[in-house]
Amino acid sequence: MATRSPQKKKASTKYIFVVGGVMSGVGKGVATSSIGLILQSKGYAVTALKIDPYINVDAGTMNPTEHGEVFVLRDGYETDQDMGNYERFMGLELSRDHYMTTGLVYKTVIEKERNLEYGGRCVEVVPHIPQEVIRRIKKAVRTSKADIAIIEIGGTVGEYQNILFLEAARIMKLEHPNDVFSVLVSYLPIPSKIGEMKTKPTQYAVRTLNSTGIQPDFIIARSDRPLDEKRKEKLAVNCSIRKEDVISAPDVESIYDVPLNFEQDHLGDRFLKKLGLKAKKRDNLSVWEKRVMRNRKSTETVRIGVVGKYFKTGDYVFSDAYISVIEALKHAACEVGRKIELDWIDSADFETDPKRLESLRQYQGILVPGGFGGRGIEGIVSAIRFCREEKVPYFGLCYGMQLMVIEYARSVMKLADAHTKEVNGTTNHPVIDILPEQVEKLRKKNFGATMRLGQYPAMLKSGSIAREAYKSDAILERHRHRYEVNPEYIGQIEAAGLIFSATSPDGVLMEIAELPKKQHPFFLGTQFHPEFQSSLIAPHPLFVAFLRAAVKEGK
Ligand code: GLN
Repeated sequence: MATRSPQKKKASTKYIFVVGGVMSGVGKGVATSSIGLILQSKGYAVTALKIDPYINVDAGTMNPTEHGEVFVLRDGYETDQDMGNYERFMGLELSRDHYMTTGLVYKTVIEKERNLEYGGRCVEVVPHIPQEVIRRIKKAVRTSKADIAIIEIGGTVGEYQNILFLEAARIMKLEHPNDVFSVLVSYLPIPSKIGEMKTKPTQYAVRTLNSTGIQPDFIIARSDRPLDEKRKEKLAVNCSIRKEDVISAPDVESIYDVPLNFEQDHLGDRFLKKLGLKAKKRDNLSVWEKRVMRNRKSTETVRIGVVGKYFKTGDYVFSDAYISVIEALKHAACEVGRKIELDWIDSADFETDPKRLESLRQYQGILVPGGFGGRGIEGIVSAIRFCREEKVPYFGLCYGMQLMVIEYARSVMKLADAHTKEVNGTTNHPVIDILPEQVEKLRKKNFGATMRLGQYPAMLKSGSIAREAYKSDAILERHRHRYEVNPEYIGQIEAAGLIFSATSPDGVLMEIAELPKKQHPFFLGTQFHPEFQSSLIAPHPLFVAFLRAAVKEGK
């Protein structure tokens, strides 16, 4: 047997748990992604996991207007929008190993129990649920070969729902005392009547965290403004943490500024020091910074209207449901040297008052994102018609592509009742029909994780707008749909002038529809979701092509 050359022992994997304090929505996901990006820039292989406290087995059955966007991974797993941030910031392609919910963890434990995998023991919430969480974390780390894993625990410290995940973090720390760390992302309010930044809620959050047996190693202090030395000292003394380990995280204009801001407080070096690691390289986020600066410098805007339904929650626009679309637009805007100006347009307005369609003229481009069901559909179809006839650049994503085909069939092919079977099961002209493999699933009410999901290849037609944008003949894009362009109508539709410029490799499934450039500056829809594969560093070519057309047409 060959003797082994003396090799340096690989450092053990480090685990960083990120938990939230005081309130939700303070940017834990962006903090997690930014920490990851910074540690990558120091030469480490980093991965990330999200644990969500829902009973839902995955995020696919959750209404995006309540929970935010369903982010689809390459392998088709339907997850939380934070996974999108991890991928976008860290340039990762994550798998189902990196996401879990309470429902999934319990489901696995119960299935194992049914299979006698607990050897006749009494299966209990503690330790078996945290143990399953730990098993999953370690599996994700093994398969991704990461040096450092960042695990974001959903919810806020002190609530009942995530207690078992904190328990998992505590038990892991017992097992690996030198390799497990915790970060509390907290919020420091500045009440307007008092005008002073208050540390007390964060102190309480730390005490609450302490009561679960966890002492944070770092506090990321979110607030309107940067933390002064006095506040840092206060937190240090009251929360038993070193002053340097309190990282100031003031509000910034763009989420992409966050890693740069963290580095101003030397987050990377402080983390490495605590983790007992040395920087293997120092690129100081140079590529990232260049993109951010480019974005900051652009003064001109490009005005895009997003037409759809369900944008409102109470008095507020719930843009979280379309976070990847918004980010992809920002990435592309940065590429074309503009800032994005977005308006949310409720398609129902066009149904009650068609004259309002005229208001679409003020936009340089219109985008229709994915969606389901019949509400607001007729309004969207008339908006698409307006864009086609008035030559306003149009970009349709998934449902936005299907509705574009419906509009074309109705107006150009004169099939007045052309529709999707999703909305009208008895139409004479179902130009959008259910995918054959979906029929049985719907009949059995088998809804969870059963759409056509995840990454599939498509081939592009030469000479098309899509081919020109991608600069490639073959693409891989992520999907989430049950319906498709009805194969029986493809010939007729193409004969009427709409081009299917991308199809599945067997030519059966239509993946992109577009009008020729000489007819319309940009009238294009995708059956897939390009927004899931865009980042600041690598903007998606179709979003860039859309905005280039929008800028060119823009008055
Ligand atoms: N409702 C359509 C379908 O199921 C489109 C889905 C989507 O936009 N994600 O095919």
